[in-house]
Amino acid sequence: LSLQTMSDVMRITLLERETITDSLTGLFNRRYLDRRLNEDIATAHRYSLPLSIMMIDIDHFKPVNDQFGHQAGDRVLVSLGKIISETVRESDYVARYGGEEFLVVAPYTPLLDATELSERLRKQVELAGFKLPDVPDEIRLTVSIGVTSLGEGIDNIERLVHVADDNLYRAKAAGRNRVIHGMPEA
Ligand code: GH3
Ligand code: MG
Ligand code: MG
Repeated sequence: LSLQTMSDVMRITLLERETITDSLTGLFNRRYLDRRLNEDIATAHRYSLPLSIMMIDIDHFKPVNDQFGHQAGDRVLVSLGKIISETVRESDYVARYGGEEFLVVAPYTPLLDATELSERLRKQVELAGFKLPDVPDEIRLTVSIGVTSLGEGIDNIERLVHVADDNLYRAKAAGRNRVIHGMPEA
C-alpha cells in the first residue's frame, strides 16, 4: 500500500469506530446495536440458539444531576458503562441505548443464565462507590434490569426490546434495584 492509501485506511478505520461508538461512554451506540442485534437474532433462529437481552436503567438518576450537576451525571454514566462491560462475559456486548439506559446482548444465552448475570451485575453496582469530582464521599447507586430472551412470541428485535422494557418497568414499579425476567401477562 502507498503511504497515501495507508493513511486513508487508518482514517476510514477511525471513522468507522466513531460511527458505531457512543462518544461519552465508548460503548456501542444504538445504531450499531440495532444492526448487530438483528444479525444475531437471524443467526440464533438459523441455528436454534438462545439469545437474551438485558435493559438496564439507573434508579433515581435525575437527583444525581440535580444535586451534583450534569457533568457529574455524565461521569456516573461512564463509570457505570465500565462496570457493566467488566461484569458481562466475553461473548456479550453492551450499548448505550438511551440517556441513562444500557442494553446488554447475551448471544448463546438462555433466560435463566441471563437472569443470573443480571443479578450479578445488579449486586456489583449496588456495591460500587461512584467518585465525583469535588465530592468528598463516593455516592451510591442502584439499577433496575429487565431481562428477556428469544422464544414463543418474541422473535424480533422490536418484541425483544418491548418485553425487556416492560420487565424493566415492572422492576421500577416493584421498588427498583431488582431484576425482572418474566413474560408479559398480555
Ligand atoms: P427512575 O428510577 O424511575 O429511573 O428515576 P430516574 O430519575 O432515573 O428517571 P427519569 O427518567 O425521571 O430521569 C432520567 C434522568 O437521566 C433525566 C436526565 O436528566 C438524565 N439523563 C439522561 N441522559 C443523560 C446524560 O446523557 N447525561 C446526564 N448527566 N444525565 C442524563
Ligand atoms: Mg430512563
Ligand atoms: Mg432512571
